[in-house]
Order: sequence, then structure tokens, then C-alpha cells
Amino acid sequence: MKSDLYPLLSIVRLRMGTDGSGVTSLVAGAGCPLNCRWCINKDLLKRKEPEWISAEELYDRVKIDDLYFQASGGGITFGGGEPLLYPHFLRAFRKLCPSTWRITVETSLAVSQESLKMLLEYVDEFIVDCKDMDPIRYESYTGQPAKQMLENLELLRRIPDKVLVRVPRIPRFNTEEDQKNNADLLRAMGFTRLDLFEYVIRT
Ligand code: SF4
Repeated sequence: MKSDLYPLLSIVRLRMGTDGSGVTSLVAGAGCPLNCRWCINKDLLKRKEPEWISAEELYDRVKIDDLYFQASGGGITFGGGEPLLYPHFLRAFRKLCPSTWRITVETSLAVSQESLKMLLEYVDEFIVDCKDMDPIRYESYTGQPAKQMLENLELLRRIPDKVLVRVPRIPRFNTEEDQKNNADLLRAMGFTRLDLFEYVIRT
């Protein structure tokens, strides 16, 4: 079934200090429900030909770095695109790989609550790019309503230790003051792990 497969674009091995703990392999997939004005992955996502692979096929390709993952407390980081569009695949992969591998997902949370709920216990860390907490600015930047992201943040409040929220300052869309207010709102929700940064835009 296609819902058990993942639209693989690339695997970048032996990363450190970029996304997730320890040594990680970044597994990038296609597909994203948002249309961000400054999409950081536009070139990758424009590629029309992902390779649909099963959890077993991916495991065969990434297990070569098992020793690095085990020794460093690292594992696989799924990015993209939006990995949470493929919850069946992610759950199957988690069950297949060693339990000591850390599974990290980079997400915008613009997915159904059902998908997120399916993965709460299987993912070790969610790295969330919230864009902006203000519904008007969010929609103007992403082209989609903020409702889904905000509802999913409510779900993640149950497991704040597993969540790192990235809070961007987005040139021409929000200000430093907006960014600070977004961070305050997130702290008030119980999220303590925040990463405030500024998008570098290429025009
Ligand atoms: S959520 Fe990420 S991948 Fe999707 S459009 Fe925005 S920047 Fe691009």
C-alpha cells in the first residue's frame, strides 16, 4: 500500500550538531501542505521524482551507520517536506530499527491530528517550525490557515520535553517584537525548548 511507503528524495549521512542529538542521517522526503514564501527546501521539493520506498528498504540503506548512532545517541532525522504526512511508514520504520536509535521528525505540524496522534509514542523528538503564532501572519506566509498547527501544538503540550520549537524571525512577514511575542506564547503553553533564529532568504 502506498500509505506504507515514503517518497524519498535524499539521504545525507553522518551529520552532527544540525538536527537532533548525536550522529544523524537526514532522510528527506517529498510533499508539503504549505506554500511558504521563503521555502528553504524549494529546490529539493521541486524535484518531481521521489523514490517510493518501504521501511525495510530504508532500513537496509541506513543501517550502515548503526555503530555511529549507537555510540553517539543519534539516529534518523526525517525532514522534507513534511514527514508527518507518512505516519504509517514512520511507525513501521520505528518498529523495525533498533530501539536505541533516536527518531527525530522535523515538522510544520500542518497535518491531521490523527497522523500526529499515531506517532506521539514512536518519535523521540519533534522539531517544530511554527512559522508564526498569529493566524493572520501565518496564513499570509504559508498560504494555509493556522488552525491545524495550533491544534497540534495543543497535543504536543502533553510531551513538552520531546519538543523543540523553532521560532523564526521572517523577513518582511514578522518583526523581532512578533518573534518575542510568539516565544512568550509558546512558553505560556509549557514549551521550554525554544530556538529563536532568523530566516536567511535567498532571492
Ligand atoms: S513547511 Fe518547509 S518545506 Fe513546506 S513550504 Fe514551508 S519551508 Fe517549504
